[in-house]
Amino acid sequence: MASVTALSIDAEKAGATPAPRLDQFRRITIKVGSSLLVDAAQGALRRTWLEMLADDIAALHSRGADVLVVSSGAVAMGRSVLGLPAGTLKLEDSQAAAAVGQIALARIWAEVLGDRKLTAGQILVTYADTEERRRYLNARATIGRLLDLKAVPVINENDTVATSEIRYGDNDRLAARVATMASADLLILLSDVAGLYTAPPAANADAKLIECVPKITAEIEAMAGGAASILSRGGMRTKIEAGKIATTGGTHMVIADGRVDHPVARIADSAPCTWFLTGSNPVTARKKWIAGSIEPRGALHVDSGAARAIASGKSLLPAGVKKIEGNFARGDCVVIRDELGAEIGRGLVAYDAGDAVQIAGRNSRDIEALLGMQGRAEIIHRDDMVLAGD
Ligand code: GLU
Repeated sequence: MASVTALSIDAEKAGATPAPRLDQFRRITIKVGSSLLVDAAQGALRRTWLEMLADDIAALHSRGADVLVVSSGAVAMGRSVLGLPAGTLKLEDSQAAAAVGQIALARIWAEVLGDRKLTAGQILVTYADTEERRRYLNARATIGRLLDLKAVPVINENDTVATSEIRYGDNDRLAARVATMASADLLILLSDVAGLYTAPPAANADAKLIECVPKITAEIEAMAGGAASILSRGGMRTKIEAGKIATTGGTHMVIADGRVDHPVARIADSAPCTWFLTGSNPVTARKKWIAGSIEPRGALHVDSGAARAIASGKSLLPAGVKKIEGNFARGDCVVIRDELGAEIGRGLVAYDAGDAVQIAGRNSRDIEALLGMQGRAEIIHRDDMVLAGD
């Protein structure tokens, strides 16, 4: 009975908050589950289906949206090539399977996107790449650059080196981290279910699909159950976890049935699915995080020109920095102070303190000569900065 009550509460809220429309999103992360890409019985690629998904991606791209793909399937493809047994694999076996399968997976994505004049760029990340700030900045910069260059990042967990204690293990949560990291405004989880039901649908004929979740409550979590299909790691539980990561980070999420032709176009045509809404947007959410939850490790004192530039929305360049305080590392939060010493903002710094001292007051063109390595032109990028008045 609890589930029936939950549905009516939800329907009421959903009435107040209509589901978003696909064409309002500018940067979309699409997570593709293993069971959609790989046929469970033969371990073979479902090519025709993938071609249709690639058509959908090309359509989003041609209307100007940035698209990122988080693709599972490395282990599923590799295990059949290596003749590994069905069922849960030992860690070293799944790593070996991923090593074999990832090559094939990357080639297939490059092919199907290439056929549509899209360039694929493979990124393999580990848990630490998304959770440690200094590495997070690197992964985010690479993804951002690929998107600037109109390529489609195709991302998976680097399963061959990730060990059990420090890996995601499921691409639902990984995709949510990638989406927030890339400031995507939408995450689409294509799965072998149509969305979140009031109870696991396989066992409950009365289970109803929930169309809109304005907030992930304990009641919603209780509906998730624990089931996963044979090939996919994540069941509904990891999808709800992904929903929490995405919506806290300012990204809307939708779980939709991927077992249909043109699964993304179908969402635009109002196919049944479950929307998880965020009240924020990715940039605001990150700025809130910078402003509130990180202890500053130092300060950059800037001249009046730089103070004016950042007030007008620009990044902070080394040229405008007059003095450095503190012993911070790249990725740490530092305070930005004006010539009178007043705090005018905070941000994640792109250089360690030692390097920052050397490039302070200098033109970004000289960074390579000064540090002996190429670095970012900005000492704090505007996306990583929150101003006192924000
Ligand atoms: N990273 C795994 C793979 O590519 C998939 C994890 C998942 O199924 O969520 O095989």
